[in-house]
Amino acid sequence: MNNIPPLDLAQQYQSISEEITEAVLDVLASGRYIGGPWVESFEQQFASYIGVSECVACNSGTDALYLALRALKIGPGDEVITTPFTFVATAEAIANVGATPVFVDIDPDTYNLDINQIEAAINSRTRAILPVHLFGQPTDMTRLMAIANAHHLAVIEDCAQSTGAEWAGKKVGSIGHVGCFSFFPTKNLGACGDGGAVTTNDPAIAAQIRAIKDHGQTARYFSVTNGINSRLDALQAAILQIKLPYLDIWNQQRRNIAALYHQLLENFPGIEIPKELPAAKAVWNQYTIRLLAKASEGTEYSRYPDKAAFRDSIRTQLIQQGVSSMVYYPMPLHLQPVYESLGYKPGQLPVSEQLATEVLSLPIFPEMSREQLYRVVRSLKDCLTSSLPSAALAKE
Ligand SMILES: *Cc1c(COP(=O)(O)O)cnc(C)c1O
Repeated sequence: MNNIPPLDLAQQYQSISEEITEAVLDVLASGRYIGGPWVESFEQQFASYIGVSECVACNSGTDALYLALRALKIGPGDEVITTPFTFVATAEAIANVGATPVFVDIDPDTYNLDINQIEAAINSRTRAILPVHLFGQPTDMTRLMAIANAHHLAVIEDCAQSTGAEWAGKKVGSIGHVGCFSFFPTKNLGACGDGGAVTTNDPAIAAQIRAIKDHGQTARYFSVTNGINSRLDALQAAILQIKLPYLDIWNQQRRNIAALYHQLLENFPGIEIPKELPAAKAVWNQYTIRLLAKASEGTEYSRYPDKAAFRDSIRTQLIQQGVSSMVYYPMPLHLQPVYESLGYKPGQLPVSEQLATEVLSLPIFPEMSREQLYRVVRSLKDCLTSSLPSAALAKE
């Protein structure tokens, strides 16, 4: 039996290989490898896809976040509210402009920022809120924008995992002041290498970003600020331009897979499925469930030193059955050694800490077959029922 991978980038390439090869050969023959027509037209097409007036392409999602923060003049002494349950790049960008990340706990159903807890974290140093639309699920932007507007805060959306997702009919990356995207190969719109983009409706912010990403230059050999070098290669821009028209189809395929996972896993003891809010249109970069075994039940459970060990043992059993899964993320950012100086203590952001021991991301990619999905579900259910008595799997 073939192994089921977490995703299959080669299969996606095969489905459009002729178009990609042609575009790549065009760029190679043109001699225009940095900047030029492919980058400009991709920026225009991506802006129009997201529904904004401005798009600036750059080297990565991490740079996109850094550039957005710089353009909003956020720096030393400033605080930026964000989630601890994300990839480290989110907080890293805040720290790299000299500002301080302030972590607010998450909602256990969507794994995104708990909107109810944001206001308590706002003080006179707060400059911005940086929500992450994690795993392709949009954050509640209606309530988040209302809080941000009431307190005159900027909103930077980390859309790295949610290209094409919508909140209340608007694409993420068009709702806050700035949207930050990654084209890392595993993201919903992935390049064949690194890439990123910033979206905004504010021409002044876009102009700032264009300068900062190009050594602070507003004209050739005329620098107005200390910048960086952050470019989307012409080759990647050409590849992304071929892929963009397929994104909605691929996202719909992800939504179909997620709907089937929901249906097959929803009522299974010991599993909690991710919830999609009514105004959300998620694009499921990951399909991440929670494993909710009750620690107090049964002697069987005592074989596992803690919840994470139970989850990890299920993961190992799945691998033995040829089913991959991933743990995003095993340690919330407020407890990472890099942020030790911020003084967070274990127990301070309990939902993030609990989810870090429970989450398991199942294989999901547009090309995934029904047979593959059924095999994942069957293996997962088998592993759970053979690992614990049903009483221990009952919902909390
Ligand atoms: C991938 C990712 C980033 C960083 O994007 P890169 O292109 O890899 O630099 C930032 N935030 C989140 C949530 C991500 O998943």
